[in-house]
Amino acid sequence: CFCQVTGTLDDCACDVETIDRFNNKEIFPKLQKLLSSDYFRFYKVNLNNPCPFWTDHSQCGLKYCAVKPCTLCISYILYSEAASQDIEECEKAEKLGAVNGSLSDETRQALQEWKKHDDESDRFCMLDDEDSPKSQYVDLLLNPERFTGYKGPEAWRIWNSIYEENCFKPYSVKRPLNPLASNSGLCVEKRAFFRLISGLHASINIHLSARYLLDENWFEMKWGHNVSEFQLRFDKELTEGEGPKRLRNLYFLYLIELRALAKILPYFERPAFHLYTGQHTQDNENKKLLLELLHVAKSFPLHFDETALFAGNNKEAMKLKEDFKLTFKNISRIMDCVECFKCRLWGKLQTQGLGSALKILFSERQIDAMPNTSNTNPSFQLSRQEIVSLFNAFGRISTSVRELENFRSLLSNLKQ
Ligand code: FAD
Repeated sequence: CFCQVTGTLDDCACDVETIDRFNNKEIFPKLQKLLSSDYFRFYKVNLNNPCPFWTDHSQCGLKYCAVKPCTLCISYILYSEAASQDIEECEKAEKLGAVNGSLSDETRQALQEWKKHDDESDRFCMLDDEDSPKSQYVDLLLNPERFTGYKGPEAWRIWNSIYEENCFKPYSVKRPLNPLASNSGLCVEKRAFFRLISGLHASINIHLSARYLLDENWFEMKWGHNVSEFQLRFDKELTEGEGPKRLRNLYFLYLIELRALAKILPYFERPAFHLYTGQHTQDNENKKLLLELLHVAKSFPLHFDETALFAGNNKEAMKLKEDFKLTFKNISRIMDCVECFKCRLWGKLQTQGLGSALKILFSERQIDAMPNTSNTNPSFQLSRQEIVSLFNAFGRISTSVRELENFRSLLSNLKQ
């Protein structure tokens, strides 16, 4: 089967077969269960940010691009916002207590600016302002990632702008868009960057092929696997050899996100960390499930070695890391230009999730410095938005790896 990619992945010590087995048996079922919980299914996002890059931006009228409003969110919002207010009050009281009482408003404001700057500088991704009235909760289970019909020049403009202007390409070409063929000669970091984006693109296209609109009438819509759509996108013969390389990039992305989950275990193991939704028994069970999942992630035998990236503390490595961050931030802003709202939702979530994974991978010192038991502010922080996007983004990639197995068996049935 053309989608049976095999062997060791470039720049990694891991082979594809090990990932298939590990994901499909160990990770995928646990992750699905976790992602159906209230904490992870409700995601706060601003889908109305204007596109910062071009103005001739049309509204998408496709009906499958609409994002359904969240009815179940109401009780969740009441709980979680009240809770986060409580937490904020506590934190304020704790921080203001002995020291801050003597600070002037000006100093306090300056400190807040510093904190904002420090938080931003760790990030690889632009986050929506969660306090903006334009940010709304979306029920991800009600809005699954699937075929929407978004294609043509609009979709191409987004991919083009990502690959041509924001993917460390050595030169710019308008057409044909064939980034894999021309990325040779790049250093390992830039190659890694390109492969992450290409892996994300592959995952989106696997999802739309696996949840394709097969039939529609007055009463119902039938969604399912469209083998020829999948074939068109990934068959070696039909993609001038690029399809299998794109699937390998999906596995590369999987390894990066898996490694981030393994590294972040101590953050979630702190007793002070809660997956708060207000339903205490459920919240505790979810935390248990989350820790189980992270322990499994940690047990993976062939983790990606991120120390191979940005090696050395020299000026050049620092500059490269900064460029990497800026370029990734830019890509997260391009998501505000995606006309199809459903695609924008999942595009934003997945770039944010990958941004959180990169932040974790390159914050080793801060994670190690975290106190184990105390309730004080840890040296490393993830916001609720970062946590929800991290796990859901990994959920997409894990589902794509699982879907490859489904396509393999559908294709082999067709041949018989
Ligand atoms: P495209 O997928 O648009 O690809 C454009 C060109 O990029 C290809 O011709 C090829 O040269 C190159 N390319 C393709 N795949 C890769 C890869 N993996 N790595 C490197 N280069 C590649 N559609 C939906 O139905 N549902 C969705 O949820 C959805 N979400 C989207 C999210 C975003 C952020 C974007 C930009 C688009 C989304 N789309 C979605 C649209 C979908 O990705 C395709 O753009 C669309 O189906 C048209 O496909 P295409 O065959 O023209 O090639």
